Amino acid sequence: MLGEGIIKGLAETARNFFGSYVNKERLTTVQYPEERLPRIEATRDFPFLVYDGDDWEKGLRCVACQICEKECPPKCIYIEKSKDKKPDAVGKPQNYPAKFDIDVSVCMSCQICVEVCPFDAIKMDVQFELSSDDRFGGLLLTKDKLAKSNEYYHEIHPTEAAGVDAALAEDREKEKEKQRLAAAAAAAAAAAKAAAAAAAPPTTVAATKDGAGSGGAAKEEAK
Ligand code: SF4
Ligand code: SF4
Repeated sequence: MLGEGIIKGLAETARNFFGSYVNKERLTTVQYPEERLPRIEATRDFPFLVYDGDDWEKGLRCVACQICEKECPPKCIYIEKSKDKKPDAVGKPQNYPAKFDIDVSVCMSCQICVEVCPFDAIKMDVQFELSSDDRFGGLLLTKDKLAKSNEYYHEIHPTEAAGVDAALAEDREKEKEKQRLAAAAAAAAAAAKAAAAAAAPPTTVAATKDGAGSGGAAKEEAK
């Protein structure tokens, strides 16, 4: 029937409206900001940068690959790549963001930056009360404001953060094993080269000595 959906919707609204006078469960709104609805784990507002350890600058997972900057639909991420490198969690030298800004007045909370990040370096925050009377910079979040600890990430999205930690631990273990095998192979190659050099006959020196000897013998014979 044409308009059946609209009638059902209006009926549900009426049921909640009148029902809310007798049943608190039917009250779908709260008196914000004095009252707040409980936050669910899937809540997402604006992105933040995750860091490991105690030092936010050293611990930032972001390697300034700029994928999120390219993929952000409204182009509200701005990154400047560092000229030098710093060791990551497994000691591999990596670039880091010399500058990382997000203009949250433009951000539409689509989470695409999070989806495309290969390093689990950017995640969605749950803070939405960011209003400011500074219309030119109040909503421009710089690197120091965006950086938040992995503990904070666990606090707001425990299930997701535990999964990320497990995946990162596995990747880091694989990387360490790769580095260990490469170091062992390099050490074995160096040892084999040294052994081969030690076992080889001293041809050049012998030739020189022989040459000198023969020459000396020839001289003796000529006398
Ligand atoms: S959430 Fe979407 S709009 Fe906001 S910074 Fe990420 S990609 Fe850009
Ligand atoms: S947040 Fe992720 S995708 Fe964006 S620059 Fe950093 S590492 Fe690359």
